[in-house]
Amino acid sequence: MNFENLEYLEYLGWNDFFASGCDFDCKEGFTVARVVIQHRDRYILYSEVGELSANITGRLRHHTQQYSGDNSLNISPPHTIAVGDWVVIKLREAEKSATIHHVLPRKSKFSRKVPGLKTEEQVIAANVDTVFLVSGLDRDFNLRRIERYLVLAWESGANPVIVLNKADLCNCLEERIAQVNDIALGVPIVTLSAASNQDLDVLKPYIEPGKTIALLGSSGVGKSTITNKLKGETIQATKSVRHGDDKGKHTTTHRQLIFLPNGGLIIDSPGMREIQIWNADEGLQETFADIEILAQKCRFRNCQHNDEPGCAVRESLEDGKLDYSRFLSYQKLNRELEYLNRKQDQKAYVDTKKRWKKITKQMRNHYKR
Ligand code: GDP
Ligand code: ZN
Repeated sequence: MNFENLEYLEYLGWNDFFASGCDFDCKEGFTVARVVIQHRDRYILYSEVGELSANITGRLRHHTQQYSGDNSLNISPPHTIAVGDWVVIKLREAEKSATIHHVLPRKSKFSRKVPGLKTEEQVIAANVDTVFLVSGLDRDFNLRRIERYLVLAWESGANPVIVLNKADLCNCLEERIAQVNDIALGVPIVTLSAASNQDLDVLKPYIEPGKTIALLGSSGVGKSTITNKLKGETIQATKSVRHGDDKGKHTTTHRQLIFLPNGGLIIDSPGMREIQIWNADEGLQETFADIEILAQKCRFRNCQHNDEPGCAVRESLEDGKLDYSRFLSYQKLNRELEYLNRKQDQKAYVDTKKRWKKITKQMRNHYKR
């Protein structure tokens, strides 16, 4: 594909990864754009010719129909278009509008499972390069929670950075960093105090032109404060958008993909804010005892309760005897536990290696003597 303004696309985050995923037959009049926000079945995009209002082809709509909420039998979408996505569009430049024909493969994605018989996912944000996992260094500090956010980050494909905020409220910074370092295995850790403008620079290395960041963290840890500081003086553009079907009514839509002053991009959306880790209370497994008992009745001992024959858990879900959201929490816990097991293995491996190194050294010294 040839672009008229490749430089601007790169500023929007376009790179070789997306270019090589773009095997769509791009005839004349087709180009690419990035999703800024979805508003029912309209999308706002940034493209090389500026902002566009877009709809999607019927074929794509068929595949992206949003889950409607309360009907658990609803067949949910195989994929959806989310803020941050790169899409192939047919441009109608004169009208500043376009039709989305294709969603390009994603570099990373944050998604949640949509309730329904088939566990389908709803993509919340796509193509985030770096995700700041924000925690407060106050009484809310919780290593288990950081672990859980790390799981989310690894699953997403975005690179995590652990951001310890509210350093002003902590008098054991070194200790905290050491604790986090122990569970985070090579993940960068930064500390700052956003509200008092202290050490905001530690975030700078991750914010570059064409790179997209997002923030994750529990409520109250300082995500909004940090986001606002990063945005600085740039006030979110609130240009009026005229929707063809709104009979000339002007609708102000907040962008969810926002340029930062130095050219980086931030995805700031309600969906991302809603991604929360449920409380890492002890005894959670006991809470799922009913599902564990059900699982014992599955035909296969290692049943994943997806679509295996003779799955008692699926049966209960379909009968409505087992609540779907509870099942999802259960699955999530299992995934996290698996991850932690793997991670502990890795730590055990590193520890063992260290121990052997020490022994070998001692032996060598012994024989030298
Ligand atoms: P969010 O829910 O993660 O978006 O958190 P907010 O940004 O709304 O912050 C929650 C509260 O923490 C607010 O009262 C902030 O003023 C406060 N806060 C944010 N950053 C800091 C900080 O570095 N130090 C202290 N002491 N308070 C902070
Ligand atoms: Zn099963």
